[in-house]
Amino acid sequence: MIELIGADEKQRRRARLERIAGRNVALDADLMREVAAIIENVKRRGDEALIEYTARFDGVELTCDRLRASEDELHHAAARLEREVRDVMREAARRIRAFHERQRERSWEMRSNGTRLGQRVRPIERAGLYVPGGTASYPSSVLMNVIPAQVAGVERIVVATPPQTLAENPAVAAALVELGVSEVYKVGGAQAIAALAYGTRTVPRVDKITGPGNKYVAAAKRLVFGVVGIDSIAGPSEVAIIADETADARSVAADLLAQAEHDEEAAVVLVTTRGDLADAVRREIEIQLEMLPRRAIVEASLRNYGALIVVGDMDEACAVVNELAPEHLEIIARDAEAIADKIKHAGAIFLGAYTPEVVGDYFAGPNHVLPTGGAARFSSALGVYDFTRRASMLRYSREELERTARMIAVFARAEGLEAHARSALIRLDQQATQDVSATMDDGLRVALKRIKPRVRELRAYTLRSERAPIKVNQNENPFDAPERIKREALRRFERRAWSRYPDFVPVELRRKLAAFAGWDEEGIIVGNGSNELIQATMMVTLGEGRRALLSEPTFALYRQIATVLGADVLSVPLTERLTFDVAALRRAIEREDPDLTIICSPNNPTGGVIEEDDLVRLLEKASGLIVVDEAYFEFAERSAANLLRAHPNLIVFRTFSKAMAMAGWRVGYALAAPEIAREIGKAVLPYNLNAFSQIAAEVALEMYDAELLPLVQALIRERERLFEALQEISGLSPVPSKANFILVRSRIEPRRVYDELLRRGILIRDVSGYPMLADCFRVSVGRPEENDLLIEALREIFARS
Ligand SMILES: *Cc1c(COP(=O)(O)O)cnc(C)c1O
Repeated sequence: MIELIGADEKQRRRARLERIAGRNVALDADLMREVAAIIENVKRRGDEALIEYTARFDGVELTCDRLRASEDELHHAAARLEREVRDVMREAARRIRAFHERQRERSWEMRSNGTRLGQRVRPIERAGLYVPGGTASYPSSVLMNVIPAQVAGVERIVVATPPQTLAENPAVAAALVELGVSEVYKVGGAQAIAALAYGTRTVPRVDKITGPGNKYVAAAKRLVFGVVGIDSIAGPSEVAIIADETADARSVAADLLAQAEHDEEAAVVLVTTRGDLADAVRREIEIQLEMLPRRAIVEASLRNYGALIVVGDMDEACAVVNELAPEHLEIIARDAEAIADKIKHAGAIFLGAYTPEVVGDYFAGPNHVLPTGGAARFSSALGVYDFTRRASMLRYSREELERTARMIAVFARAEGLEAHARSALIRLDQQATQDVSATMDDGLRVALKRIKPRVRELRAYTLRSERAPIKVNQNENPFDAPERIKREALRRFERRAWSRYPDFVPVELRRKLAAFAGWDEEGIIVGNGSNELIQATMMVTLGEGRRALLSEPTFALYRQIATVLGADVLSVPLTERLTFDVAALRRAIEREDPDLTIICSPNNPTGGVIEEDDLVRLLEKASGLIVVDEAYFEFAERSAANLLRAHPNLIVFRTFSKAMAMAGWRVGYALAAPEIAREIGKAVLPYNLNAFSQIAAEVALEMYDAELLPLVQALIRERERLFEALQEISGLSPVPSKANFILVRSRIEPRRVYDELLRRGILIRDVSGYPMLADCFRVSVGRPEENDLLIEALREIFARS
């Protein structure tokens, strides 16, 4: 009666497994139509329809006021249950509740400066439980559905069941009374599901429906899914048993029969490494079958969906079971736990000779509502989490939105959603809000429309204009230009005719720079600060449809100008340790082929440098241009200039504003292949560098070794001393730097440190608005006595906190 499949009968095994898997898929179109009509009718006519269907299907005449079972009716029915059964039920409920208490989930929150993100767990408000009538009406199902809902904290639990259930099945009534559920409606079938989903005058609409039912109930649950939540569509039940020679054939046979008793579609499968066990189980089934009252159902189930499968070894047994993904799995074998580890899909796993599936049906505590028909591949036992929802909670500070709004806008625009982008950007700064305010003059509003939208969204790159005796906010040379340089320059200024234009090409300065940098004169271009050359280089390389690649956080001007020019800015974040993520840069170069990549080394504001090997790798990978901004190279005692000869796509930027102590004169220069320098020159205005700046720069170069180099060396020593002192202060964590400034992580909010220091006459740079640097400020290395005062002030501020 039950099929026995030998170890080498692969074909037969396959056919059998497919037959078992296939029993669940029938979705009868006629049935769906019929059920849809019932649902529609209940939705339209409410109670009236419920009363009509109950008369037609259940043969019971109800009225609106008798749709709900009275308290008396419930208690009367419950009282008819034998005392012993009630006591056992009470004990089962206790065990089930204890198990489900462990499933309770907690809300949680993660905070980082400026953001609070969390997940809030709340129960659903109303749960509807369907309890089928007739022979399928089980009090255990009441316990298994109601208890997790109660543990989750569901406020209102509503039951629907056919009108005769309470009278016919006192145990169901007793289970409801025992659990304190008193809202019971006497409607069954598809009409009950419709009533719970849409609500009628009498039956409340619920948020989720659970509980088993016949095919009408299952079809109705499918159709209302989405209007309400549903647990799952219960299919016919199944058990698989993995057994070796330690298993007792009588127990195995009994467990298979227990499952087959449920219904004719139930599947029962033994998978064993022993042919003799399979034979013995088959004989035992014949014997035990004789004693069972539901024999006809059992026989049909065994014949249609039973199998005794012999396999070569345990791995093969596990493979068969994983394919089945059974609702229940018993493992009666040596090393049951080790076998269980290899099981990927099963609703519940019962281990060892003394854990028949039936202990899970009633008593042990875990839920018996399990995924059937292979659904264990993607779903789980009914539990507390089926009666909760998780809401995400988000809170951004203004600063955090300012930090991220541009990235959000980039993403939104990539999806073609301009209004999304504006929703983030409109909050960016006062300027943006003012623009949309009604107070603006109409003419001005019209005129402003002609400014490129991307430009209007940009926050202007500015610096607060506070002054203080100790100014360590701009990375200037704190020593000022040496006397001798100043005097010599002034002497030459006096002799220079003020009425004449400067040279069209600053030949003399270029000659001196060529000697200083060790590069060809034609490959040198000077600018009104290196910022002008950054701009010029971007002007000749970037525009609509062009791409710039940055490694951020970095000097803010790069992104600013690239954006004004209409280019797309690609950004690779620094690593967590704020070093260059060279691998990610290489990947970005490979994937995006940027027209221009900018590496600031030492990087402002983090102070880190790119290693020469790494830079070479980027230069080799890139077909676009790579700019290395070396504004601070003197303090790093290294330069990329020696790579120029081998790499025509390299451009090096330098400035007189930092080590050269000449920020006031605005001089910078770029080193590049002469052909490239010529192209950049096309974007530079004639006479961009005034005659006096040229003279000052020439003098500085002439006297660099004698007058400036010692200052640079003093600053390097001071940088190391300042770094160590900052490290000693608890609450501060300086980042190693090769420049004349140090980035510092701070336990106290950077804004507050800034204010506290300003009160003490020290001006630093708050860089907390940069990506990744929310807890950072930056200090330039000052003169020794300035550094002492800075250290003293920081010690005081951090000692008090
Ligand atoms: C200070 C600085 C400059 C210098 O700009 P100039 O226009 O030459 O004063 C260039 N790049 C970076 C990264 C800087 O920090």
